[in-house]
Amino acid sequence: MIKVATCGVCKTDVHIHHGEFISEFPLVPGHEFAGTVAALGPGVSELALGTRVAVDNTVLCGHCYYCRKNQPLYCENFYSLGCNGPGGFAEYVVANHDKVFAIGDLSFEEAAMIEPTACAVHGLDRIDLRPGADVLMFGTGPTGIVLAQLLRHAGALNLVLVASDPKKLEMAGRLAEADTVLMDRSNYGQHRQEIHRRYPRGFDVVIDATGAIDILQECPDYARFGGKIVVYGVTHETDIMPIRPYDVFRKELTIVGSFAQTHAFDRAIQFIQLGLVNVRDIVSHRFPLDRFQDALDQVDHGQGHIKVIMDLQSQS
Ligand SMILES: [Zn+2]
Ligand SMILES: [Zn+2]
Repeated sequence: MIKVATCGVCKTDVHIHHGEFISEFPLVPGHEFAGTVAALGPGVSELALGTRVAVDNTVLCGHCYYCRKNQPLYCENFYSLGCNGPGGFAEYVVANHDKVFAIGDLSFEEAAMIEPTACAVHGLDRIDLRPGADVLMFGTGPTGIVLAQLLRHAGALNLVLVASDPKKLEMAGRLAEADTVLMDRSNYGQHRQEIHRRYPRGFDVVIDATGAIDILQECPDYARFGGKIVVYGVTHETDIMPIRPYDVFRKELTIVGSFAQTHAFDRAIQFIQLGLVNVRDIVSHRFPLDRFQDALDQVDHGQGHIKVIMDLQSQS
């Protein structure tokens, strides 16, 4: 049992609040949480009371078709604390000991970013970047900013970030040592022209980290021969995009998806501990637990935030 200190609020929580994604009710949401061990079940020996920890919220059955094929992320009984099981927007949460990770001297604020970082580590696995590849990414939300830093360390050559919020774009460009192109949401022609002017040959990897279908559908236009399109942002379930199959054929394009994460916590924690991924600058807004609705509203339609977290540390 974990006494929760922090829990990140993400766009998924907004979707869950509206009954989308894999939500099941009644539900205590919150899937990005950290805290201290408050009680131990019988036989748990590798954790001690008071240990500062973060929790991998995925719970995999171990006996379904995919689990038995060692593809646990596709578990047919995929259970996720905060999505379809009790999560971290609470004083206490219970997790299985094998998904509880000590965080050393990371702050609890940083620890709330471990789950999003783990999702970015999984994204990096899926992208399977070839060192020296040129990468274009749309979107500078929290997991986008983390993924950009990972891509930098994974050997991206030209790394170009495109976003409409100048503050987030500046930070993402600085943390990932990336080139940036500002997007005007009312005039897409502007960034299109700018990208084609600076990088006329296009990119080996084009990532959508916005989840906006009108951005995703222009990604193939920036892919060079042999390129990869990465669906990293979460679109609406019913979104449809037109694509020219001839381009996929002639340019040998690959379309890659990246969903959540599992078994990426250990690496995520170390990326942050070693300072290769900066998550400290990403946390911008903090709310107490009793202002959950305000936190959700901020993420849903607020302005000026990057990462919003619930901070329970001041509560008794
Ligand atoms: Zn999330
Ligand atoms: Zn399973």
